[in-house]
Amino acid sequence: MTLPPGSTIGIIGGGQLGRMLAMAAAQLGYKAHIYAPDLDSPAAEVSALFTRGAYEDEGALARFAASVDVVTYEFENIPVAPLDAVVAKAPLHPPRGALEIAQDRLAEKEFVTSLDGRPAPYAAVDNLADLQAALGRIGAPAILKTRRMGYDGKGQARLRTADDAADAFDALGGAPAVLEGFITFDAEFSILLCRAQSGEIAFWDAPHNTHIGGILDRSEAPASADLAPGIAEASAFAARLAEALDYVGVLALEFFASADGPVFNEMAPRVHNSGHWTIEGAVTSQFENHIRAICGLPLGATTLAASRVEMRNLIGRDADKWLDILADPTAHLHLYGKGEGRAGRKMGHVTRLIR
Ligand code: AMP
Repeated sequence: MTLPPGSTIGIIGGGQLGRMLAMAAAQLGYKAHIYAPDLDSPAAEVSALFTRGAYEDEGALARFAASVDVVTYEFENIPVAPLDAVVAKAPLHPPRGALEIAQDRLAEKEFVTSLDGRPAPYAAVDNLADLQAALGRIGAPAILKTRRMGYDGKGQARLRTADDAADAFDALGGAPAVLEGFITFDAEFSILLCRAQSGEIAFWDAPHNTHIGGILDRSEAPASADLAPGIAEASAFAARLAEALDYVGVLALEFFASADGPVFNEMAPRVHNSGHWTIEGAVTSQFENHIRAICGLPLGATTLAASRVEMRNLIGRDADKWLDILADPTAHLHLYGKGEGRAGRKMGHVTRLIR
């Protein structure tokens, strides 16, 4: 189904990803309608319409879906069951099933394994005895991660030795978790793809990502040539995964580049922080192609617009340096309109193109 310009795109979630989606939608002549629980919404600030509602409120979600032409989401921790009310009224892309899998680290790893992908060695942990048994099998060092609601390194505890088991379990508050073996990696990269309603898949250059304290610090594209074999293998896997889910829209998969090949870390069924460089650094951005895909339009070219592109996140007080950043006339500054630069909060990003 092709939506003509003038149609309204419903976006569940009101953060910076929704903001950049709404701006891409506007460029193509669409209106954005944001649905989010908070009054302060970086996305609503740049959108034609805003509904304030809880993610659990099926009635409000149904009214919202009935008022738009297609629905997408920019936040992956929304409860899945109330989305039935949305699907009854409007097409939802990416599919509900992708969200369901991405929300649960255990389901995600099982799904990846079923498609011949390779996650870190893992085991489900519901209690301390499970954790001790899992450590016996996987060994230390390892990372205990909550199954649900983890992001940017939150909901994680590192275990240097098996003696850290009780502390790690307590640190997660006893929530259902997964133990992961610690992967020794040369680099981290992500696969960013967009799948159209026709089934066509477009890949951007896979960025090399550097994290600090579990939060993305910078993404650089293209990644160095020594990562190419791992990226090729990971791309083929990502295409299998997108097809298995009958996916529509942008999908991001994060990998560790290890000596034994790419190890899957996690997937995000949405536009992704490691793809922000595509706004200026690719012929078509992840945001525009997501809008194109969900509206049934042909995809735009994903090729690099420069020989090299670097995106740096502005976290917390980093954003206070906006005037210094602008002193470089080639820097593309993006600020998300968030008030206070609290520690760990993503306030904006800067992209530089090297021609
Ligand atoms: P996550 O929130 O799962 O993406 O984890 C945040 C960061 O922690 C990753 O980007 C890695 O730098 C690191 N990390 C997570 N899991 C592992 C692992 N199994 N082995 C080594 N490093 C990890």
